[in-house]
Formats: sequence, C-alpha cells, structure tokens
Amino acid sequence: MLARIARACGRVGRDPASVTLVAISKTVPAERLVAAVAAGLTVLGENRVQEAEAKVPAVPGASWHMVGHLQGNKVAKALELFAVIESVDTVGLARRLDRLAGDRSSGRLPVFLQVNVDGDPAKEGFGPAELSAQLDEVEALPNLEVRGLMTVGRLVATPAQARPTFVALRELSERLRAQQPALGADLSMGMSDDFEVAVEEGATLVRVGRALFGARPTA
Ligand SMILES: *Cc1c(COP(=O)(O)O)cnc(C)c1O
Repeated sequence: MLARIARACGRVGRDPASVTLVAISKTVPAERLVAAVAAGLTVLGENRVQEAEAKVPAVPGASWHMVGHLQGNKVAKALELFAVIESVDTVGLARRLDRLAGDRSSGRLPVFLQVNVDGDPAKEGFGPAELSAQLDEVEALPNLEVRGLMTVGRLVATPAQARPTFVALRELSERLRAQQPALGADLSMGMSDDFEVAVEEGATLVRVGRALFGARPTA
C-alpha cells in the first residue's frame, strides 16, 4: 500500500511523506487492528461512534479519525475517542464541536470540512458555494483547527472517472484559502479504488479500507 502511494507520488513529483494513510477499520475486529498497529498502521478511521467506542480502548497506540456523519448527541463521546474529526458537514456541528472541545487539555481540535463536491443528494457535506459563504464563521471558532477539506467521491466504474472530483476539491481549497488564509491546506480524498488518482491530484490523506483489510461483510 505504501509502495503504491509512493509510486503515485513519484509520477507527479511529490514526497511520499506528504501523504498520510488513514486505514479505515470499520467492521474489522479489534484483534486484527492490534496486529495492524504493530505492523505500523497507526492512523485508523471509523465512521460510527458506537463501533469506535467498543474498539478504541482495545487498540492502544493508534490515532483515530472520525470519517462518518456525526450526530449532535454523539459529539461529546466522539471527542473522547477521536484525535481528528474529518467529517464536519454543517456549521451547527462545527459550533457544537467547538463548544465541547474547549474543555480539552490537548489544544485545538483538528477538523476537516466535508464537501459534497459533486452535489450528490445522497451525501453529507457542504456545497462548495455554501462553504464559501460560511467559512469565516467556522474559522472564527476558537477551539477548532481547520486542517483542510475532505470529500467522499462518487461511485465510479474506473479510477480515472474519480479524477474530476479530486481536481474540484483541490481547486476549491485554493480558492477558499485565497479568501480565508486560516483554512489549512490538507486534502482528505481517495479510497480503495481511487487513492492513487487522489494522490496524483494532491491528496495529503487517503482513506483506505478494503484494499488493506479485504472486502467488508455485506449487510
Ligand atoms: C468506508 C469509508 C472509506 C474507505 O472505503 P474503502 O472503499 O473501503 O477504501 C473512506 N471514507 C469513508 C468516509 C468511509 O466511510
């Protein structure tokens, strides 16, 4: 996996150290994750607070990213479990995280703003225009550190078809940072089927599940 990331970096002249592999561990049992952490896979991602609650204490030594939709009533629990929230998808959620993150001793909470780049009605996330209008408000929240943008690509038949989504997120990031320099430059994009294309287009985090752990059980 790291070799594939390094080759994708090589094709576009990037340093492989600029890409963080977030191993998406949903449905993978804790015992396997203990072995994964021992093998050096130390940044793990989950999409549900309830599943993470059972697994995080059983897998020491990992740093956990929340990558799924976060309900308001799970924010306090999420702050106990996760080091980074990648899936901030409304200003309301950002405000709530900010309020509770103020109690932490570990400094500002790193977050990503999730963008629904393709305007997919089935997906969470800010619309690009909406985010432009609301970014100053999010950046004004004192207890959050907005590291950058995150997106979940469309389901596509070939990795190449995912490229326009990644290009759009990168260009949106550039436009928003010209408007609001406090926005971080990180880009979380790319999953098992298309992470190499995402790296070619500037991803600094890729979120890979099946390509590391195998197919997830259906239903
Ligand atoms: C499941 C998931 C991933 C990883 O998907 P794979 O196809 O298994 O690589 C990435 N991001 C999010 C938000 C997910 O829910």
